[in-house]
Amino acid sequence: MKTEKIAEGVYLIGGPNVTRPEDAAVYLVDFSGELVMIDSGAGNGSSQLDRNIEMLGLNPAELTHIILTHCHIDHIGSAAYFREKYNSKIVIHELDAQALETGDSIKTAANWYGTTFPPTRVDRKLKGEHEILKFGKEDLHCLHTPGHTPGSISVYLDRAGKRILFGQDIHGPFNSAFDSDIQAWKKSMNSLLSLEADILCEGHFGIYQPKNNVRNYIERYLEEYD
Ligand SMILES: [Zn+2]
Ligand SMILES: [Zn+2]
Repeated sequence: MKTEKIAEGVYLIGGPNVTRPEDAAVYLVDFSGELVMIDSGAGNGSSQLDRNIEMLGLNPAELTHIILTHCHIDHIGSAAYFREKYNSKIVIHELDAQALETGDSIKTAANWYGTTFPPTRVDRKLKGEHEILKFGKEDLHCLHTPGHTPGSISVYLDRAGKRILFGQDIHGPFNSAFDSDIQAWKKSMNSLLSLEADILCEGHFGIYQPKNNVRNYIERYLEEYD
């Protein structure tokens, strides 16, 4: 049960083999002095995530932002814990924000997990196709990639000559309860392919690299739903 360093200042800090079986992957990016978490697990592993950040020699109080790739419970569960404890800002696309704000047990899929999600305030709602968050001299790109849910996003960062893509649940699944949209998803996957990322940090199936393995991963799903 260990955290993993993916690239310089980029870590896997949570997930089924790191924190709890029900957690989707949780990633942390260190922007020297500011930490950004991408997704937050299902909610029962909050203090473990907190400790994992410390064990990397980082200060969890520097966690300024929690970016949520979409509104499902296995990705959003610990966001409120960190918002409360460290005043971290919760960021999600506007089209998935309402599920958090109302604690909608169907849209968050909390009912699937036999749990609940308390209504939680969103600090920043991403709008449109592409927003860039600035951390020091670096840009963290948030791309709207609808399909699995209407407000699904993928996040990427160029660091040390590598493009690192965080694409949680880009494989689906697709369900009318989530307002999934396969046509929108195909378009989203094509825009991810055009990024030519070197590393894909996925939500449930791990980390893919180099470039051709990232491409193969996305293309395999596109073929499956052709
Ligand atoms: Zn999901
Ligand atoms: Zn998931």
